Amino acid sequence: MSVTAIPPRASAVLTIDVDAVAANWRLCRDRALPARCAAVVKADAYGLGAERIAPALAAEGCREFFVATIDEGIGLRRILPESAIFVLCGPLAGAEGDLVGHRLVPVLNSLEQIGLWRDAAARHGAALAAAIHADSGMTRLGLEAREVGALTADPALLAGIRPVLALSHLACADDRSAAMNGAQRDLFTRLAASLPEGMPRSLAASSGIFLGAAYHLDMVRPGSALYGINPTPGHSNPMRPAVRLEARILQVRDVDTPMTVGYGATHQIARKGRVATVAVGYADGWLRSLGNRGHGVIEGVRVPVVGRISMDLTTFDVSALPADTVRPGAMIELIGPSHDADAVAAEAGTIGYEILTALGRRYARVHVGGAA
Ligand SMILES: *Cc1c(COP(=O)(O)O)cnc(C)c1O
Repeated sequence: MSVTAIPPRASAVLTIDVDAVAANWRLCRDRALPARCAAVVKADAYGLGAERIAPALAAEGCREFFVATIDEGIGLRRILPESAIFVLCGPLAGAEGDLVGHRLVPVLNSLEQIGLWRDAAARHGAALAAAIHADSGMTRLGLEAREVGALTADPALLAGIRPVLALSHLACADDRSAAMNGAQRDLFTRLAASLPEGMPRSLAASSGIFLGAAYHLDMVRPGSALYGINPTPGHSNPMRPAVRLEARILQVRDVDTPMTVGYGATHQIARKGRVATVAVGYADGWLRSLGNRGHGVIEGVRVPVVGRISMDLTTFDVSALPADTVRPGAMIELIGPSHDADAVAAEAGTIGYEILTALGRRYARVHVGGAA
């Protein structure tokens, strides 16, 4: 990442490497060839900023994007006038016009949603594109096997609908030994065969891409891997880190027994040392579960979180570093290449996805790379 001037008033800086995200998309694309590679940019590109990331991926040649909600689709349409934009939640009653007006392609998850879209096409007076989601084992969204059967038995259910993609979603793709992966692939292949002919099929998200060619079908839909999350947990991360979070030190305290740190006095000082307080807390998505468990990094040295995380503040034991390194105004790295979102997640008892999507709104955000 290039060095960028940090505004003096920034109490914390989130640096997003757009070039790394683009490189991660190319890696997914190359892995999946000859399948097409879309990009999932829901939740504001997993918290990293769709406004900068989506155009960079479009410039790499990505033609198809997925968002979760209709509002996200409307926002993305302003950024990407030409791309195909799929909306995973599908049509909602009364909101069909929003989808049509912004040329959004809904994922139809139920016979009810198919009915909404069929009626919308009749009102529109022309065929409307849609993806069809067949559930192969997530039991969340999607048509059950018998509902796919109903479509086969009665093609009029799809009157006015131009099906452009059949999709399904894997439950256990991050565990390559899971028997469910093959079972879901086989079921989805069977269900897709009874959907209208010629529909491209998409099963793999990030981890599914790394399960191998049998899972790529016609299109893959990576999200997390683009943002640097390891799609192959337990194995080395093939993706480039894309996020760096640094927090400004506000104050450094000399401490000694019998002092305690923070709410609830949960950290007892055991020996003479120093504690640094930075301006990031759980209101910034620096999760409260990191209290007495997480750590930061200063000049390559790990500094443990001591005490509970406050709403706006976190305290670190910086006794291991010389006093002139740790002074007000210096930064502690909370997320970075040596301590990525997956590593923070392990300390917080969650997954990297939640660390990224929780990233707060108060950070000074710096995007490096991509188009200005
Ligand atoms: C979020 C999502 C994806 C992307 O998943 P990742 O694991 O982040 O790659 C793909 N498909 C569907 C249906 C999703 O909901």
